[in-house]
Amino acid sequence: MKTENILLCAPTCTLKELNNLFIELTEKNCNQHCKQCYIDFPMNKKIKDFIHIDKIKEALEQTQSAPLNCIYLTGAEPMTHPDFNSILRLCLKRTNVCICTNGSFINEKKARFLKKVENESKYSILFQLPMNHFNELKNDEVRSRGSFRQVIHAIKNLNKYDFYIILCITNYYKEPKKQMLTEFLKVLENTGIHMEQDNIKINEFWQKSNTQEDLQEIKGSLDCENSRILTSKGIYTCPFLANDYRGRMGSDFSNYSKRIPLETNFCMTCIKNKEQMFAINKNLFKD
Ligand code: SF4
Repeated sequence: MKTENILLCAPTCTLKELNNLFIELTEKNCNQHCKQCYIDFPMNKKIKDFIHIDKIKEALEQTQSAPLNCIYLTGAEPMTHPDFNSILRLCLKRTNVCICTNGSFINEKKARFLKKVENESKYSILFQLPMNHFNELKNDEVRSRGSFRQVIHAIKNLNKYDFYIILCITNYYKEPKKQMLTEFLKVLENTGIHMEQDNIKINEFWQKSNTQEDLQEIKGSLDCENSRILTSKGIYTCPFLANDYRGRMGSDFSNYSKRIPLETNFCMTCIKNKEQMFAINKNLFKD
């Protein structure tokens, strides 16, 4: 038996404090079919698997003493949830809310409405929008046809109402990050969008399949140090491991595990990435 590829003792990560609460509003409901989605099952807009708002209320009560910087509404596509507006208002009573969306629901009217909702709260609404490449064809090849223009359209509508946007680039083609950043800023500028470097986050493309690599030394910061995700099935470490038995931390926030062995291929991607893959830089929330 070969032993060199067996992880005898995987490193672990312990939750330091809960600053980022991810809430999966739906596991499978999405209006797009991106080829590179890290969620394994086929997306379908007919699946009605939405989390109940009472479960979110319960989680907010149980995490009352946690110093949350931000609640992230995720999915599949969170804006397909029929109670999306009520959930957004509920979360905004507690802290800032980041909507992680494919952008397809953000027209001018929706952006105006969301600004109205934000103005009712002392906290902010932020957006994370996904892209893969600054070249429209290369981008749509791994996402879905029309998604590049859809995101550009959403950014323009959100900019009009002065929302903070983070463009999350998954480096599918494994190109040099610095070059990607420069090209993205140029392309956006040509479409009339001015963005700063801080608004663009470039992540490593994740490893789903088995790999022979050893886990490297952990040098950066991992999402599981400061985050947990609530789904309709329970509490999990991070969006990568949502609904995956390897990331299960408990059934609710009254009693959940704080420690996770870093033994999945997703963990390897996080370690390589050297900075948190899902959470927004916490400095953004300092006044
Ligand atoms: S996938 Fe990343 S964030 Fe999730 S447990 Fe592994 S290292 Fe932590």
